[in-house]
Amino acid sequence: MPDLPARLHRIRPSPSSMASQRARALRGQGRDVLALTAGEPDFDTPQHIQEAARRAMASGQTRYTDVGGTPELKEAIAGKFRAENGLHFSPDEIIVGAGAKQVIFNALMCTVRAGDEVIVPAPYWVSYPDIVWLAGGMPVHVDCPASLGFKLQPEALEQAITARTRWLILNSPNNPSGAAYLFAELQALAEVLKRHPQVWVMTDDVYEHILYGDMPFASIAQVAPELRERILTVNGVSKAYAMTGWRIGYGAAPAQLIEAMVKLQSHSTSGASSIGQAAAVAALTGRQDFIATNRAVFRQRRDMVVAALDAIDGIHCHLPDGAFYVFASCADLFGLRTPTGRVIRSSDDWIGHLLDSQDLAALQGSAYGVGTHFRLSCASSGEHLREGCRRIARARAQLG
Ligand code: PLP
Repeated sequence: MPDLPARLHRIRPSPSSMASQRARALRGQGRDVLALTAGEPDFDTPQHIQEAARRAMASGQTRYTDVGGTPELKEAIAGKFRAENGLHFSPDEIIVGAGAKQVIFNALMCTVRAGDEVIVPAPYWVSYPDIVWLAGGMPVHVDCPASLGFKLQPEALEQAITARTRWLILNSPNNPSGAAYLFAELQALAEVLKRHPQVWVMTDDVYEHILYGDMPFASIAQVAPELRERILTVNGVSKAYAMTGWRIGYGAAPAQLIEAMVKLQSHSTSGASSIGQAAAVAALTGRQDFIATNRAVFRQRRDMVVAALDAIDGIHCHLPDGAFYVFASCADLFGLRTPTGRVIRSSDDWIGHLLDSQDLAALQGSAYGVGTHFRLSCASSGEHLREGCRRIARARAQLG
């Protein structure tokens, strides 16, 4: 085995995959582990989408496709942007990848030069900083505390920008906090960005359709068309259509950036799966009613989990606007002791106590850049979530 290059030492394995692996290992030892860690809907992919995949296979759509995506899927994506976001893109401004993650990876790999800075508001999805490191850049974390709704403030953005800033990454609704930006909030950020032409914006909109309440979804390309020449809008079918395993995501940006990303992709995956792409066409152009049904289920679960956790002494939730996670503060538990005498000093300690004492797997906020919080996924049945909250209450009661 050759020595690993330094850039690989800087990154960590995905904490959610590690947590799921640990839960499986403990189950293998006979323990009744309840894992509330999954970042994927627990619903099945709708039947009409599965049918489209079967038809694609039967009709011979089993070969390499155009590297940047099939013409049919690019047309469906352009139609989605037109109808849902009022955005207009031509096929050469669209790329399809093996999930939104590959699109993000492509973009950062193509554009980040050694030492470039990428602004990553915290809490953040775990992969952003690690992809920036892999690309040779430097993630610059900007704390967005719960007291400010976990959202980046224009003044904080202004302060974080330097001559080396290459990208700002936005993610709304956010994983893990669920915070979603209002139109006016994005406008205020856009005002700052207008003063700094070297900064591009990557907006990760994969939770667009999992947004509760009356607030309309807003994406920065809609809000600030004058920044269009430096915005990459990323989205995908994983979350809204319960299609995580199909690995289809997409991005829309100026043609020059897309061309570079396609070039890179031609030497990595050669493009997304032909069958997955046919299924994604059905997802984007077929009936959409189940999205609202699933959203209502996620919302009920969110309300139940937030109420149950808020009732526990020392745990506080910020009501998520969207996505399917609850990101709760455990900071008031710091300094307390477990029955075995261990002092809880961090979210990692709290998560360890939940697993050791109650067989409950959740994720430590430190993985998302916020060491005072922990994340529960609501992509689990109501019964599992109720049981999870009971276990958390019992774990809390053991602390003294
Ligand atoms: N972006 C965010 C914020 C996510 O939470 C995830 C998955 O957890 C992804 C991107 C990856 O999506 P995909 O399955 O399309 O690669």
